[in-house]
Amino acid sequence: MTREELTRQLNTLRLHGKRTIIWCWVVIVLAGVPFCIYDARLLHLVRAHSASVPVIRLGFTLFAGWVVVFLICIAAMKRTVARYAPKCPHCSGRITGREREAVLASRQCPTCKNRLF
Ligand SMILES: [Zn+2]
Repeated sequence: MTREELTRQLNTLRLHGKRTIIWCWVVIVLAGVPFCIYDARLLHLVRAHSASVPVIRLGFTLFAGWVVVFLICIAAMKRTVARYAPKCPHCSGRITGREREAVLASRQCPTCKNRLF
């Protein structure tokens, strides 16, 4: 692996990582909209003293759905790292953007400390 290859792969990871983060934020916000509408409706019902078990059950269902969406987004981000992050040729450890400057300066794998280029 050369310095240029590593830099190119890290730039590709950054590009796809930004896309994934933007996509995830949009999905998380959109998934949260029904939850906010539900909260406003629940507040209205509580003020009218008519909150009931089905209403509360709906709230838990919406929250569970939002949590599932959030977990899917985390999985998408991990998948992006697994797909685009450069691999160390010695230990197959992933090199992410967080270690970029340290790896380019030291030329060492952050996991196994072997020389990369
Ligand atoms: Zn390594």
